[in-house]
Amino acid sequence: MAYNDFRMDNQWLPFTPNRSFAQDPRVFVAAEGMHFTTHDGRQVIDGISSLWCVGAGHNRKPINEAIKAQLDTLDYATAFNASNDKAFRAAEMIAAMAPGDLNKVLFCNSGSEAADTSLKVALAYHRARGEGHRNIFIGRERGYHGVNFGGMSVGGIPANRKVYGAALLPRVDHMRFIHDPLHPEHAGHAYIHNQQPVWNEDILLELENRILPLHDPSNVAAVIVEPVAGSAGWYIPPQGYLKRLREICDKHGILLIFDEVITGFGRLGTAFGADFYGVVPDMINFAKCVTNGVIPMGGVICSDRIYDAMMGAHGSAPGHAIEFFHGYTYSGHPVACAAAIATLELFQRENLFARAGEMGPVLGDAAHSLIKGLPNVIGIRSLGLAVAVELAPVAGLPGKRAYDVFLDCFHKGVLVRNAGDNLVFAPPYIVEKSHIETMVGTLADAIRRAA
Ligand code: PLP
Repeated sequence: MAYNDFRMDNQWLPFTPNRSFAQDPRVFVAAEGMHFTTHDGRQVIDGISSLWCVGAGHNRKPINEAIKAQLDTLDYATAFNASNDKAFRAAEMIAAMAPGDLNKVLFCNSGSEAADTSLKVALAYHRARGEGHRNIFIGRERGYHGVNFGGMSVGGIPANRKVYGAALLPRVDHMRFIHDPLHPEHAGHAYIHNQQPVWNEDILLELENRILPLHDPSNVAAVIVEPVAGSAGWYIPPQGYLKRLREICDKHGILLIFDEVITGFGRLGTAFGADFYGVVPDMINFAKCVTNGVIPMGGVICSDRIYDAMMGAHGSAPGHAIEFFHGYTYSGHPVACAAAIATLELFQRENLFARAGEMGPVLGDAAHSLIKGLPNVIGIRSLGLAVAVELAPVAGLPGKRAYDVFLDCFHKGVLVRNAGDNLVFAPPYIVEKSHIETMVGTLADAIRRAA
């Protein structure tokens, strides 16, 4: 099939129903600020920061100019046995923003690579300290840590795992999810507006009393969680959850990894989710907003303690010995690092994290006031600059209702993200109240039409 001046026969689209897409193509050809232009000349509001990436909005000149200048100066340089000036500067800026003693940045190119990198660091760290037997990972049901084998194994979204069976990492267990619609107490928290739910039930008792004793805590390398469960549909942990998780990990010498690919760089109004919750993990995984999505980049920020242990273990090794056999050809790519530096400067100059924090309640207010009570709406959760509206699934066809609503919104000029039967908005931090009114109003109309 041809479409305008391009053919659509050869691209296999990721995480997309390809057959239905071919009947109803959604193709962007330009973007500016809060809007896309489609191939057929329509304007569409980017209600999801293009998969949580474009915090500063589209087509930001300072980022574009930095990329162009970098291309004309140092286009690429080997990442092994040498580096480049922009990689050191970007790492310095990221470390300065990171909490606690998280000071050592291992660059990669995506959130998926960050997940696998962090898991490998955890194993290597324990081995360096003489605890190589610590090789069990604990993730959480419905967690998302990308699509590579490590991240997929600790991840807990059934559809992403189903086909890969025995190819998943064997030494992995999963904690309960932070929301159970059938649990009477959780059901009482279907509507969350810019607050942390308070539960009587301690859902981490399962980790303490069942999972850790089962494996013996001395065998566990790391626990990995998203501070707020993003891809599952913006599920917010109960008050005190992450603090208690930190305490449990500390008690047993287990590393705590926060996957902040979504919550990192401003989404909650703070640099990291770790800051929002006042909990310092041992590693933070990042990607997406670090370059405003413009150039692929990911990374893992490790604590000094981890780095020092890895270096210390090689104290008596000859000088040419590599301490960690891991890295990517494009780790710390100079063009990506130039984009990151310009992005982080722009976030700072325009105070965009604070703006995300201010606009979050505006988005939440709109969603709770215009959408609560509409047909099939069974929950609304807002925190930071993101909100999820949960719909009752069509019997036997999970995800269908939200997919139909997503399509309807798109045709009406608003990009919303469907995640299961959730519809999620996570707009760029530059969003204005008028955009929010259009986004939420369009979603409300589509939900009515889908009833
Ligand atoms: N981790 C989390 C928490 C994510 O939300 C995502 C992507 O949405 C990833 C990892 C994977 O990132 P990527 O798609 O860049 O590989």
